Amino acid sequence: MSGGNPLDEARDQLANAIKTLGYDEGMYDMLASPRRELTVSIPLRRDDGRVEVVTGHRVQHNFTRGPAKGGLRYSPHVDLDEVRALAMWMTWKCALLDVPYGGAKGGVRIDPRQYSRAELERVTRRYTSEIIPIIGPGHDIPAPDIGTDEQTMAWMMDTYSASQGHTVLGVVTGKPVSLGGSLGRASATSRGVTIVALEALAARGFDPAASTAVVQGFGKVGRGTARFLAEAGVSVVAVSDQYGAIEDPDGLDIASVEAFVDETGSVVGHPGSREIDGAALLTLPCTVLVPAAVEGVLTEANAPRVRAKIVVEGANGPTTAAADRILEAHGVMVVPDILANAGGVVVSYFEWVQANQAYWWSESEVEQRLGQRMRSAWSDVTDHAESSGLSLRNAATCLAVQRVADAHLLRGLYP
Ligand code: GLU
Repeated sequence: MSGGNPLDEARDQLANAIKTLGYDEGMYDMLASPRRELTVSIPLRRDDGRVEVVTGHRVQHNFTRGPAKGGLRYSPHVDLDEVRALAMWMTWKCALLDVPYGGAKGGVRIDPRQYSRAELERVTRRYTSEIIPIIGPGHDIPAPDIGTDEQTMAWMMDTYSASQGHTVLGVVTGKPVSLGGSLGRASATSRGVTIVALEALAARGFDPAASTAVVQGFGKVGRGTARFLAEAGVSVVAVSDQYGAIEDPDGLDIASVEAFVDETGSVVGHPGSREIDGAALLTLPCTVLVPAAVEGVLTEANAPRVRAKIVVEGANGPTTAAADRILEAHGVMVVPDILANAGGVVVSYFEWVQANQAYWWSESEVEQRLGQRMRSAWSDVTDHAESSGLSLRNAATCLAVQRVADAHLLRGLYP
C-alpha cells in the first residue's frame, strides 16, 4: 500500500454517497463499520522446526443482502484497516453487480515468497481452522486475492470439510476446476476488466485498434487483462510487476512476455523491451491505464502527471480521493474498482451456485453470463452518472449503497 489509509478512503466514498442519497448519520455509522471482525494469531512451525506466530484477520463488513463474500490476501503489508476497507468495497461490489452477498475480506501478514509450500499449507490450514466458527457456504465464503491462489482455496476447503465431516464445496470459491472450481473463474477478473475497458473506449469514441494500454501488475488480474486487451486489438505498450517495468512503444508481444514470465518469474529483461522505472509507468501517455496491483498507487503526487485518457481500476482502491479529484478535473475517465474488477466475484458467485447445486456449466455459458452482468452494471453506472451528474465512482458507490441501505430498511433493525 503506497497511499494513505485505505479505510479513510473507503469511508470518504461512503460519506459522499450517504450525503448524495440523503440518508442520515445512523445509516453512515452502520455502513462505516464492519458487522464482525476476528483477529487470530497463527502459530506456524517452520520447516527447520522453529515456531513463528503470524497475524490473520477476517472482517465481515455486511450481511444484509446475503452471506459475506471476499478474498483472502497474504502480504507483509496486511493490516486491519486495509482489510476493513477491502471488506467494505466487497459489499459495494456485490451489490452493484447484484450478486446476493454482503462483503468480507481476510488477510494474513506474511510474505508468501519467503515460505515453502509446506509452510504455506500449514499457515492456511491453521488460519482456516481459527476462523471456522464464522465461515461457511451460508455465512462467509473466502476466495483468492493477492498472494493466494486455487491451491490455497483447496487447502481451506479441505480443512473446513474435515471439521464438518463431509465435503463442503461451497465454503470457498476460486478452487481448482478439478475440485469444484468453475470453468472461467481464473480469468474472470481480467475478462471483466477488459469488457469494461472496451466499453469505456467505445463511450469515449476510441477505436481499440488505434488505442494503447499500460498495465501495472502482471499477476492474477494484470496478466490476463494485458492478454485480452491485446487480443481485442489494443496495443499494450508497457507492463510491470513487483520487480520492475518494461515498455515498447510499438506494442509488446504479450504472449511472448507471458512465456518469459513463466520462464524467469518476471517481466523485467524481456528481450525487445526497454526497462523503465516502475513509478514512471503510471504517467506514460496511453489511451487506457490499468492499475492492477495494490491500493493507493495514484495519489495527489502523480495524478497531475497521468496522461491516460481512461483509468480502469483492476486493483481494489488504487486511486486516492485526492487523485480522483485531480483526474476528474483533468477530464480523465476513471472506471471504479467496484465495477471494473467485479468479474472475479461474479464468477465466484457462479462457482458457489454450481457447487451448491452440484451441476456444472460450460466455459462459454460462464463467459456469456459474466459478459451480460458486466455490461449491464456498466450501463447502470454510466446511465446513473449521466442522469445525476456524478463521477463514475460516485455513481457506482451510490447505486451500491442504495441497494444495501434499501435492503437494510426493508429488513428493519433487530431487536
Ligand atoms: N479477491 C477478489 C476481489 O477483490 C475476489 C473476491 C471473491 O471472488 O470473493 O474481488
